[in-house]
Parts: sequence; structure tokens; C-alpha cells
Amino acid sequence: MKDKLLLDIANSTNLNFIDNENALVGLHNGYNITINSSPYTYYITFPVKLTSEVGLDNMNAFLHGLTTEFKKLNYASYNASSIELHYTPKYRKYRKPEIILSIINKLIDFSITNNLVTCCASCGEETELKPFLFNNIILPCCTNCQLEINNKIAEQQNAFQHKSNNIIGGIVGGFIGALLGSVVWIGIAQMNYIAAIAGLAISICCIKGYQMFGGKLNLSGIVITSIITIIMVYLANHISLAIDIYSEYKIDYDINFFDALRAVPDFLREPLVRKSFIENLLIGYLFTAAASFSYIKKAYLEANNKIKFKEINM
Ligand SMILES: [Zn+2]
Repeated sequence: MKDKLLLDIANSTNLNFIDNENALVGLHNGYNITINSSPYTYYITFPVKLTSEVGLDNMNAFLHGLTTEFKKLNYASYNASSIELHYTPKYRKYRKPEIILSIINKLIDFSITNNLVTCCASCGEETELKPFLFNNIILPCCTNCQLEINNKIAEQQNAFQHKSNNIIGGIVGGFIGALLGSVVWIGIAQMNYIAAIAGLAISICCIKGYQMFGGKLNLSGIVITSIITIIMVYLANHISLAIDIYSEYKIDYDINFFDALRAVPDFLREPLVRKSFIENLLIGYLFTAAASFSYIKKAYLEANNKIKFKEINM
């Protein structure tokens, strides 16, 4: 669905939507402008070249003035050859196209007054731009820069593919990480909270450990860390039950924790104990899967340099 605010901006400027993306791009009053929206944030890119009269200090002072004037303009910075703004209107009263339009007009006025010209956002060359989508951000860059960035991504992907993969080290690291996560799980269980929320901790620590000890987070890395997580969630439940048994019986019987741990299988033959154990385990797996899914996906995409790259036809 198209962002309503972007629709209004498109109607009152020369900016156009890119296919089905919530992103506007175009030349408005002689200046290249791109605006992307993600929920609650609008990213505005305004490539413009500094001059000998107007340097970084003047630019920063101007941008500082902008953030003071517009309340929800949370970020304003000049990077490479372009002004980057993040406008974050959480409330309806700030979600108005007039506000973004007035920000854009300030940018244009400042540029015209100071004879700043539009350019490639990356190299600053005053040439025709060939904007492209990089993950979810549009980069208004020239053909050369597009090629350069493209090559860089290919290089990184290539380097990842040829990176050595120490699966054994990764498994050791994954277990160490997951063990740390399990400590959190067991701690929460002992406080009588639903320990399953710590499933994310097990999953994150496992993946971090796997990578730290040389494992590559490719598809088999995902499978291995998932299996370790499944095992450790089971063990965390098992140990939690042993701790319960130990604290219940240590007063009347002369047992240590390891006796309790050995007694767990006997206790699990008890239907009531078994039922609650299985229930806890299932909830644990469910929570862990639900909480970890987006983290695992993100970690995998990052590790593999999977980048959404799309040329924009204007
Ligand atoms: Zn360029």
C-alpha cells in the first residue's frame, strides 16, 4: 500500500514513485531528491555539492538550524556529497506532507542562495544520476558509483564464499554461546517466570558463538546453530527440573545436585511431572522459534552480504 504522505508529496512536486516501493525520486526545482518511508521514518536524501564559500561548517550550522526548527527531524547530516535527513513523525499531528515539503523547500532555498548545485550523492560529480535501491534506501548516484558499489558488494560476497569455514570450531563456539543463554533461561525459570522468553538469548548467543569460533553462517551454519539451540532448550528444561527436584528434596534427603540430575528420568515417568515438563518444553520451543526467526534471518542476510539491489527506471 502506498504511503499516504508520500502520495501527497508526489502530487505537489515533480517526484515520482518507484514501482511498488514506498519511495519517491526525481528532480524538483533543479535538485535531485529521494524520499523513502519505512514505518514512522522518512529518509530524505538531497545530494548537493559544497563550494569554497560554503563548506562543511556552514552546512552543519544550517542543518543544526533545521533540526531545531522541525521538531521530529531527528537526524540531519552531510555525508559524502549529500544531505541525509530522517524525519520521524510518531503522532498524526506531525505526519503532514506540508512539513516535509517545507523542509525540502528550506533545502532548496539554502542551495539556491548559496549557489550549491545538485550532484551524485556518492562522488559529488555533476552528472546525470542513475538512482538505485540499496536494501530499502534509494541512492541517487551516477553510473560510475553504481558500478563501483555493485562491484564492492560482489567482492564482499565472493570473499564470504571463500572465507574458511571451521565447522568444528563453530559447533564448539555455538555450544558455549548457547550454554551462556541457557544460564539466563535457568535463572528466569528459578524466579518462576516463563523461561521461554530466554529462548532468544540461547539462539543469539549460539549464533554469535558459532561465528566467533570460525563457523560461517551459511545455510549449514543456520541448520547447525538451530540444532544446537533445540538441544540446549531441552537441556535448560531438563536442568531446571533437576534444580526443582534438588531444592524440593535436599532438606529431607541427603542428596546433592547431581543426584537430582540423575533422578530426572525417574521423575519424568510420573504422568503429572511429565505433562508439565512437556508443556514447558513445547512453550519453550514455540517462544524460541517465534522470537528468533527474524534475528536468524537478519544474521544470515548480513553474514552472506545478501543485499537487495535494484536499478530504478525513471
Ligand atoms: Zn558518482
